[in-house]
Amino acid sequence: MKEFKGQKREAWELEALAKLKKGGRVGARAVKFVAANKVKLGFAKQTTGAKWTVQGMLIGPRVIELSSKQAPGVRSGKDAWTISLIAHEAKHYEQGLTTALSVYGELEAWQLQMKVLRELGAPPTHPALLAIEKLKLSHDQVALKEAARLMKQYDPAYRIDLLPLNPVGLTTVMGSLQKLVRAQGSPRPKAK
Ligand SMILES: [Zn+2]
Repeated sequence: MKEFKGQKREAWELEALAKLKKGGRVGARAVKFVAANKVKLGFAKQTTGAKWTVQGMLIGPRVIELSSKQAPGVRSGKDAWTISLIAHEAKHYEQGLTTALSVYGELEAWQLQMKVLRELGAPPTHPALLAIEKLKLSHDQVALKEAARLMKQYDPAYRIDLLPLNPVGLTTVMGSLQKLVRAQGSPRPKAK
């Protein structure tokens, strides 16, 4: 892909990004962001499906770490969920630290991810995901509480409860960050 000219990237990275781009408009926009901001993709051992890193957010380089457990599925291009997480995590880098660390920021990223899953021909089927898709993205506390409840319903291990509903000031964010250092990440794929 021409947008990655001059960037050192592995073959699987380029293939996953090409798949994301080919899927549709939302995925293509995420790929554009990844290219323009030189966001690296990698695999790392973790309890979540993927994550952005604090260092990437604050200092750089920006890296999206995908769960190494999903590596075979990503390399073969078959793991649409993990490929859609690339767009989810890229959205967090685009949001910046304070929004990324809020339920509001998560709702935006989850909804974007659902759109990408549809583009990839792997539409969500879990009732909680379908309900998340239908929520109106707003700063309304009732809606955000419902979003957090649905995320927890989809993945009980997901630590959305550690995040404030709406983006808050940097001091509070640093407090959330300390709690999240071990727990932060994205929803894992549901075991089939
Ligand atoms: Zn997220």
